[in-house]
Amino acid sequence: MSTPAARAAQLTKSYGAGDTRVVALDSVDIEIEQGRFTAIMGPSGSGKSTLMHCLAGLDNVSSGRIWIGDTEITSLNDRQLTRLRRDQVGFVFQAFNLLPTLTAEENITLPADIAGRKVDEAWLKTVISTLGLGDRLRHRPSELSGGQQQRVAVARALASRPQIIFADEPTGNLDSRSGAEVLGFLRGSVDELGQTVVMVTHDPVAASYADLVVFLGDGRVVDRLKDPTADAVLERMRRFDGLRAD
Ligand code: ADP
Ligand code: MG
Repeated sequence: MSTPAARAAQLTKSYGAGDTRVVALDSVDIEIEQGRFTAIMGPSGSGKSTLMHCLAGLDNVSSGRIWIGDTEITSLNDRQLTRLRRDQVGFVFQAFNLLPTLTAEENITLPADIAGRKVDEAWLKTVISTLGLGDRLRHRPSELSGGQQQRVAVARALASRPQIIFADEPTGNLDSRSGAEVLGFLRGSVDELGQTVVMVTHDPVAASYADLVVFLGDGRVVDRLKDPTADAVLERMRRFDGLRAD
């Protein structure tokens, strides 16, 4: 088997100390396979965002080790980590985070432009056509629908061919039709471009686009579901107390 796109071993993350100490992640072992779409689900407070932030090198860990590809990120200094994030990790957030004064195309190439890196034009063309953005490149975000704006954000994440893309509730601000569209394109980036995608979501329908769903409960991995259907995911979520997910 090839090297996982990302891996955590005995990852523990706690906040605060003494009486107010909260263990957000408790000895988590997880491997994210290359070229797959993985969804992370679980009730509110189960540690989804913390896990994503630690895996992406956005947050430091209390103990344990994390790798992105072959690189152990828990042994890097800040400068090395910043560079690794820039070159090997793509992000898609719930809020699209596009710059309003730039066109769609300028937003897509912005990270490369800031890094002073040449954009691979052939790859960019492939990404843009995979995301169906060819006739929207000159538009500014305000001239695009929510779904189109999020497709631009996905294209921006794909543009540098990162080792892995992390998406935190990428459809959280979209109506169900635009959400389905964005999920279809994320799926396409895995199937057609070989991208690795990890998505945090509370929506069983969104999770059903993934190849694998990892369920968190109280900071631990409590279950896994391969080739999920929305019904199977919903059924699993119902077994959590309260069904209140965020
Ligand atoms: P989820 O994304 O699944 O809702 P989080 O990863 O945001 O869960 O949070 C996991 C646990 O860690 C929760 O109990 C939450 O209150 C706590 N937590 C998260 N971030 C912080 C923080 N910055 N300071 C203190 N506690 C936090
Ligand atoms: Mg969260």
